[in-house]
Amino acid sequence: MHDLVIIGGGPAGLSAGIYATRYGLDIIVLEKNEISGQIALTDIVENYPGFTSIKGMELMERFKKHAQDAGVTFQSSEVLNVKNKGTIKIISTDSGELEAKSVIIATGANPRHLGIPGEEEFIGRGVSYCATCDGPFFTNLNVIVVGGGDSAITDALILSKIAKKVTIVHRRDSLRAVKIMQDRAFSANNIEFIWDTVVEEIIGNDGVEKVVLKNVKSGNVKEMPIEGVFIYVGIHPNTGFVEIDKNQSGFIITNDRMETSAAGIYAAGDCRKTLLRQVVTAASDGAVASLAAYEYVAGVRPEQ
Ligand code: NAP
Repeated sequence: MHDLVIIGGGPAGLSAGIYATRYGLDIIVLEKNEISGQIALTDIVENYPGFTSIKGMELMERFKKHAQDAGVTFQSSEVLNVKNKGTIKIISTDSGELEAKSVIIATGANPRHLGIPGEEEFIGRGVSYCATCDGPFFTNLNVIVVGGGDSAITDALILSKIAKKVTIVHRRDSLRAVKIMQDRAFSANNIEFIWDTVVEEIIGNDGVEKVVLKNVKSGNVKEMPIEGVFIYVGIHPNTGFVEIDKNQSGFIITNDRMETSAAGIYAAGDCRKTLLRQVVTAASDGAVASLAAYEYVAGVRPEQ
């Protein structure tokens, strides 16, 4: 019986682990990949305090080393189910069951799909959700980026250094991304914009050859020849394995102690309903969740 099982080895889970070892809890961090978290797939991080600019992978390697040095134990497992049996939580994984007095869910979120014809068919053959991972396949080719948020603009800028031309297709006429990134995209000489437009279909044979675009204001539909489609239309939380209160999109609802609707189960980072999803906020959530879990396990502040 562990005091605390932390599910997820991204910024929230690793931060929770570092704090939990300092409270003297017997903990284990379950992770799917050796270096976890969407941030490991991010090219450059420029807003984690203390690092003016650092590769996402390097930042996560530093988090991991810090956790290992602090004495965190890791297990490579995929969690299939978490059952709340009152004071005992049963965590079923693809490599067996664990029991814990408390659980922190820090499973993050994955890219949402558009759900249009051709999207699933061409994943890995022209459709991608990660410029850092797949950008080099599109050297000197033409690509579109779908979306207007931070992910879309960040990755459009990465692609602009690799591809011949990047066209950002956005459903409105203004971007959601933070202004400093917008300014960089507007001043890049090989980034163009198609406003008020959605992608209706992705067409090709061996790989992507064209997309069908629809202007949402005029209703006009046209085809655009293209070799790559990078999609950034938001994120989908990895929370299907647990039955606790979530919002309509599946993000776990917590209070400011990261407590969920189940006593002894906490959520931290991108998988919870929150205003801001950044490395710094995920790390902060993990620290708070760890203290709350410690107080619960130690009986210092029993749940009501
Ligand atoms: P996001 O902020 O939710 O943006 C999603 C974008 O996709 C929006 O522009 C949205 O349009 C558009 N969209 C949604 N559904 C669509 C659809 N069906 N068809 C066409 N367009 C659609 O998601 P994100 O960019 O992945 O960012 C997720 C979180 O991570 C955010 O909190 C973000 O700040 C954070 N993040 C931060 C950084 C950084 O700081 N460096 C980098 C990446 C991500 P509308 O604008 O019209 O809603």
